[in-house]
Amino acid sequence: MRKFFKVTAAVAALGGASLLVAPASAETFVTIGTGGQTGVYYQVGGSICRLVNRGTKDHDIKCTHTTGGSTKNINGIRAGDLDMGVAQSDWQFHAYNGTAPKQFPDGEFKELRAVFSVHPEPFTVVARADSGIKSFDDLKGKRVNVGNPGSGQRGTMEVVMEKMGWTMDDFALASELKSSEQSAALCDNKIDAMVFTVGHPNGSIKEATTSCDAVLVNVNNDVIKKLAADNDYYAMATIPGGMYNGTDGDVETFGVGATFVSSTATDPEVVYQITKAVFDDIKRFKKMHPAFANLDPKLMIVNNLSAPLHEGAVRYYKEQGWM
Ligand code: GLU
Repeated sequence: MRKFFKVTAAVAALGGASLLVAPASAETFVTIGTGGQTGVYYQVGGSICRLVNRGTKDHDIKCTHTTGGSTKNINGIRAGDLDMGVAQSDWQFHAYNGTAPKQFPDGEFKELRAVFSVHPEPFTVVARADSGIKSFDDLKGKRVNVGNPGSGQRGTMEVVMEKMGWTMDDFALASELKSSEQSAALCDNKIDAMVFTVGHPNGSIKEATTSCDAVLVNVNNDVIKKLAADNDYYAMATIPGGMYNGTDGDVETFGVGATFVSSTATDPEVVYQITKAVFDDIKRFKKMHPAFANLDPKLMIVNNLSAPLHEGAVRYYKEQGWM
């Protein structure tokens, strides 16, 4: 959060060129960490910022958003580079509890705060139709984009691989492309499959399934079902058939929830104003992306949150009588 002084200046025209400077008011710049441009996080951050920036003249907060991914966003908040960010529910849990030393080498992040949850994110595997991949187990021996370090899907893929007893050497190629690059790589036949934990519908998977023959495959073997049953931050999920070209039937997988997080270092007044900007105009927010269509404010303040709520958000929820 950076504060700048906004100077409202008026030139006194009468009798010369003296400059009258009105008292300066502080303008607060807030940065939200999101994800690749063709995913949904980017739209979450963009939509929140649009609503916040509509009210800048009242609260003096200006909002911008960056790309990144779940674990990069949480680490950015911890380092003070970001004020808020979007993150998968599994990575929110691990950051707060210190249970993922690879992603969060500084250990438990007890200052992490939840603000609200957003859309569901099924763990989505898209394969070239000519690759012979019919389900998750078939990825072994293939060219797979496991995602860029810092993204939620990369971390979640590593968790699943460990449960499957796989290492990166089990793939003919394990590429680390960003979510915005993987659809082109799939259709250029540089990879056989891509992995993306993401809300639906989204631009990335639309691109993959319209630029070439590609299909969504089930991720529902016994290892996955056990993983979902054993951990509160996972659940089995269905991607409805007919959403993408080439995939007419429902696809069964597991998934997480997208959440919006911050830390105790972010001013409660700022978090309050951002929370208020979203929920005061929730109808407009829900129309900003099809993945937001089913959001219900009362569930958004409880579902998929493992860190405590930020005090600025609590102030708004109490005012609404939601807590
Ligand atoms: N779930 C992904 C991540 O944590 C991002 C999904 C998106 O960009 O919508 O990095």
